[in-house]
Amino acid sequence: MYSKILILYFPPVVAQNAVVCYLTKKFDLIFNILGARVSNKKDGYMVLELRGTKSNYQKGVSFLKDQGVRVSTAEQEIWRDMEKCTHCGACTAVCPTGALSIKRPEMEVIFDQEKCSVCELCIFTCPTRAMGLYSKNTDEMMV
Ligand code: SF4
Ligand code: SF4
Repeated sequence: MYSKILILYFPPVVAQNAVVCYLTKKFDLIFNILGARVSNKKDGYMVLELRGTKSNYQKGVSFLKDQGVRVSTAEQEIWRDMEKCTHCGACTAVCPTGALSIKRPEMEVIFDQEKCSVCELCIFTCPTRAMGLYSKNTDEMMV
């Protein structure tokens, strides 16, 4: 069984169609939605774990791309610059997987990289630019 976490970005016109359901119907794939924000008026995203045979997985991903969905995989890693982090908690409100959470009563923001799906939402939410995207291959900061 092949399994991968994917981040799907839907432009508004695609968000009106239930394209993800076809992954099961057409390609016998099992999906587990880890987080989502989809609206038929705005663009949206979905973080999901996709499981099935490798061949069906590849066909399913091609199908999504053909439908206009931008598909990205977790080939990069998210890192937090602790010197920049003020523990404001803003990133915990957008993190769909619970990788960022608030430890109470200390009110300290914890980052569990094992849970991170690399959806990048925290990068654009963080007011101090403490969250960054790095290439696993080169260790270069990308965003
Ligand atoms: S949003 Fe940025 S500064 Fe605030 S807790 Fe998250 S990483 Fe730290
Ligand atoms: S990229 Fe940021 S918001 Fe997305 S899962 Fe990882 S820690 Fe959470």
